Amino acid sequence: MTRPAAPLAAAAIAQLESEGVEAVIGTVVNPAGLTQAKTVPLRRTNTFADPGLGASPVWHGFAIDRTGIAFTDQVGVVGDQRIRIDLSALRIIGDGFAWAPGAFFEQDGSPVPACSRGTLRRVEAALAEAGIEAVVGHEIEFVLVNPDGTRLPSPLWAQYGAAGLLEHETFIRDIIATAATAGVGVEQIHPEYGVNQFEVSLTPQSPVAAADQLVLTRIIIGRVARRHGLRVSLSPTPFTDGVGSGAHQHFSLTKAGKPLFSGGDGTGGMTPEGESALAGLLHGLPEAQGILCGSIVSGLRLRPGNWAGANLCWGTENREAALRFVHDGPGAPAGGNVEVKVVDASANPYLASAAILGLALDGIGQGAVLPEETTVDPATLPDLDHGRLASTQVEALTALENSGRLRKILGDPVIDLLVAVRRLEHDRYADLDPEELTEKFRMAWSV
Ligand code: GLU
Ligand code: MG
Repeated sequence: MTRPAAPLAAAAIAQLESEGVEAVIGTVVNPAGLTQAKTVPLRRTNTFADPGLGASPVWHGFAIDRTGIAFTDQVGVVGDQRIRIDLSALRIIGDGFAWAPGAFFEQDGSPVPACSRGTLRRVEAALAEAGIEAVVGHEIEFVLVNPDGTRLPSPLWAQYGAAGLLEHETFIRDIIATAATAGVGVEQIHPEYGVNQFEVSLTPQSPVAAADQLVLTRIIIGRVARRHGLRVSLSPTPFTDGVGSGAHQHFSLTKAGKPLFSGGDGTGGMTPEGESALAGLLHGLPEAQGILCGSIVSGLRLRPGNWAGANLCWGTENREAALRFVHDGPGAPAGGNVEVKVVDASANPYLASAAILGLALDGIGQGAVLPEETTVDPATLPDLDHGRLASTQVEALTALENSGRLRKILGDPVIDLLVAVRRLEHDRYADLDPEELTEKFRMAWSV
């Protein structure tokens, strides 16, 4: 998609103005998972869409430590790209603002290969080419903290406890109301396992639209938290003494309108292609780990017993499996789907979906064979003969860097940038102990 959507007509701009919009925020997400933004006054909306606003290629290389830049062949101080917002996805988000997702283009209008939104679009197109349609549902786990990032009191907190909900009921109600105004599909909100931890689940959508919706929802949650004098930590490991926060992605696939994860003769009702999709993803997971949960604090979350899917296996409704299969049935009206549990919010959600769906498509293309499912807590098994996830960031990054299949799916520019921003984290901060790391990066992905 090299040409942007048609510009907004004067009447549409006037309509936005009459609805109180004064400015438009456009966001992009970089390989380190940072949400970056530019804003224009309403009258400049069409310019933001085409030709776009200038941004240095350095935006792709900004690291999570607030100062670092991972310089690569593509990321240097020379050059200027354009961020173009997608007007077809513009939403009014209240208090004078509208929002739209952005993507990177060169000045001549050609897409920047390293652009994450553009990359997911390419994977979506590859799926379409194979006659497959994907739907993705995102979950957002986060921890409420004080404005300075310190812990909030939690005398009444219990796991999934109603008291936690009541302590923050106006915050929760405000999220639901603001999300509804912005057209965001919230499926549910609940207090989580961790202290002051909540989860928001979003309505499944096509991959790019779903990632856009996730980014917008994070912005909404961040704004609402501020209204309540709070902040949100999206860090995979907000504190060392509790569970972590995931950014699980559910996906389902259909071909010619028929689901691949339901109505078949395979395990849990999967079709042969559904099994191969799941197998392709499972086989590629060690290589994709650096994309899905590759930050310097991600490994602190991926521990057995944390329900983070730390084990390289799949299983029906198995919360300790990296891939949890949810089968079709009266209790699952959305149909059979796969939950990729290892993903956390340090991941760029566009690139995470692109890797997941690209590997699934690859599995279908190869006719990949699905191993036996794991039906128990893997910790109770004497030995995992199906391999394991990397236990260090360096190991995960080496697997990503050497992954021929992910280079084919996402392109070299994406892989090289991902590896570079994450290596910078390792090179600068590997000496810190877990306490120092969680403290330093608790608010790194906050918006
Ligand atoms: N907080 C867990 C994680 O880090 C997930 C808990 C759940 O199963 O929802 O992924
Ligand atoms: Mg959860």
